[in-house]
Amino acid sequence: MLVHPYHGSGRWLRGNLHAHTKNSDGKFSLEELVRNYEALGYDFLVITDHNKITPLEGIDSKTLLLPGCEISTDKGHITAVNLKEPIEPNQPSQKVIDAINAQGGIAILAHPNWGENFCHWQQEDLASLDSYAGIEVFNGNILRDTGSPLASDRWDMLLSKGQKCWGYGVDDTHNELDIANGWTMVLADELSPEAIVNALREGRCYASSGVFFEAIEVDETSIRVIARNADRIAFVGKHGRWLKWVNDRFASYRVRGDEGYIRVEAFGPHGSMAWTQPFFVSG
Ligand SMILES: [Zn+2]
Repeated sequence: MLVHPYHGSGRWLRGNLHAHTKNSDGKFSLEELVRNYEALGYDFLVITDHNKITPLEGIDSKTLLLPGCEISTDKGHITAVNLKEPIEPNQPSQKVIDAINAQGGIAILAHPNWGENFCHWQQEDLASLDSYAGIEVFNGNILRDTGSPLASDRWDMLLSKGQKCWGYGVDDTHNELDIANGWTMVLADELSPEAIVNALREGRCYASSGVFFEAIEVDETSIRVIARNADRIAFVGKHGRWLKWVNDRFASYRVRGDEGYIRVEAFGPHGSMAWTQPFFVSG
């Protein structure tokens, strides 16, 4: 039996969950930032200035805007999606996560591998905190900063311990170099804040740094994916082990039963990737 989030219908919506304006340390005004994403056809954009909620009124855009905040805590930065009331920064992380959840927001632990030690978040903190939705498995801003934009290593360590958390892709936009390096595709029935937030919370989404999935199909015993622009697809299991890989843009995997979990990574042009959420093997 596979337990996974890819249920229901809808269409895939593209969005960035992490972006800064001049209101904190971003280069662009809110208007300029939004126009950049609108021009690329993004369906939604979350504004996450540091420790403050930037008001979104007065912007008329085809790209749906959601309020958010990047909150500094005692252990690391937390990206809050759908946050309406400010939360006091520099408190204990768990308190901040609980406060985000209490508002109907989504707590995502930001750029785990940022920094010269590749350790913005200590693994033991990722493992001991609870009720957060997931981590940034790809944070594009770290491409041009120290550490690694990728955090699938941290994710596999959490998933292997049985911790259920989702992976998200984000730009963490500060200037034009950061735009459209990482994003999250959400499966939703409609373009509304509620539909997007629910899909993000339930994991009905995947992270990307350039590869698009055309299909993610699951039944009792197998997983099948088709990517638009991949040349390799890998099925990754417990402790990060590659269970199977195929040098093609489509692949399927038959479940053995002892994998613990299975997630799919697709590799495309110029080092781009996409990451499905985990499929947990049970029974
Ligand atoms: Zn940020």
